[in-house]
Amino acid sequence: MQDLTEAVQLTDPLELADPKPNPACTVCMALDRQRTEARRLGDMTQVSDCNIEIRRHPHSRPRGARS
Ligand SMILES: [Zn+2]
Repeated sequence: MQDLTEAVQLTDPLELADPKPNPACTVCMALDRQRTEARRLGDMTQVSDCNIEIRRHPHSRPRGARS
């Protein structure tokens, strides 16, 4: 009864942590391009930096915008 065996194959946590950029935000989209390029080059530090920037970038949320 080892249910955990199915959980052994985890995907890369860095991949899971990838925040989605706001398509309407030029800053986020630029960061997204940077992140893609950094990943292509294998620069995971830069990838992580871009993820942090995207995650922290403030946006006005569409929900509740019209009041
Ligand atoms: Zn943004």
